[in-house]
Amino acid sequence: MSLEDAETFAVSLGWQKFRGEQIWRWVHAHGVRDVEQMTNLNKDTRAELAEKATIGSLTIAEQQVSTDGTRKLRLLTRDGQSIESVLIPDGEKTTQCISSQIGCAVNCQFCATAKLGLIRNLDAGEIVDQVYLARKLLEEVEPGRRISNIVYMGMGEPLHNYDNLIKSLQILCNDKGAKLAQRRVTVSTSGLVPKLEKLGLETVRPNLAVSLNAANDETRDEIMPINRKWNIGKLMAALKAYPLEQRRRITFEYVLLAGVNDSLRDAAQLAKLLRGVRCKVNLIPWNPHPEALYQRPSDAAITGFQNECKRLGLPTYLRTPRGDDIDAACGQLANRAKTADGSSAPLVPLRIRRERPGLPAVD
Ligand code: SF4
Repeated sequence: MSLEDAETFAVSLGWQKFRGEQIWRWVHAHGVRDVEQMTNLNKDTRAELAEKATIGSLTIAEQQVSTDGTRKLRLLTRDGQSIESVLIPDGEKTTQCISSQIGCAVNCQFCATAKLGLIRNLDAGEIVDQVYLARKLLEEVEPGRRISNIVYMGMGEPLHNYDNLIKSLQILCNDKGAKLAQRRVTVSTSGLVPKLEKLGLETVRPNLAVSLNAANDETRDEIMPINRKWNIGKLMAALKAYPLEQRRRITFEYVLLAGVNDSLRDAAQLAKLLRGVRCKVNLIPWNPHPEALYQRPSDAAITGFQNECKRLGLPTYLRTPRGDDIDAACGQLANRAKTADGSSAPLVPLRIRRERPGLPAVD
């Protein structure tokens, strides 16, 4: 529920509107999951609330901790589906990577999540509860460590679940709730042009990241089939028109695949494509997983690519894979269960169905 939903809910029960805000603050500002802890509600109100409402949508089914401190959570929804969320410590900061869908319909060829197909969208409650559960877990296992940044880069294409994306952003960034600063939240997309244009008109303003991965249509068509619908020209036109706030820049993610998009010519094309765009590029050497046959480029090829981009004036950063030993790194999230030795089991195909008309085919 948004704050307004909670107020409407309170009124529907015959309570005063402010009760809705009181309850909402307990959940979103204080992380309370038990009605009995809402000490400014009297006993009868608490009893009625417990009868009429439930708090929290997810439970932690499993967690794996990488040798680098990255923590992958497998979370269960009420209907028994699994999603994954990753906590990435970086000095005193912790970034949480959250999921927006169960599976994904976009079918990027290098991504393990794509192999699940789309099972369903997460609702706004399931999106924000990933943050609240992780916050609680950190309080227990690493007191003093707080989640500083949120990235919508886990399972799913956030812009395919637009309404729940926006609602979850409004909840997480509400000053009366979790109070996340909008500049500390990033939404990553594979480039759904019409939804990008819509996002630019919202009052809530997260950072924008675009999974680009190639600077020419031929290669991008091959590794990201969505490019056949919204090609690089359309995507760049939408991004150039995007109302970027002052001092912000677009992040382009570029997964480096050996022999596919890692040549010096690719680097030069990328620099040319992004010339004049306020941006930075994160290079992500491909994180291997059994569902795709790509290879990570050699260290020399990675360095050469980065140096060429920099030489041509493109701010380019190399992202060190985090949590790749537990399949928690970029592109590896696939709901694998943990095996007895702590590694990840092979991918188990999940029920795949097409959720609603208009989405790309997944099966
Ligand atoms: S990279 Fe992102 S958009 Fe592409 S298939 Fe994977 S989860 Fe979906």
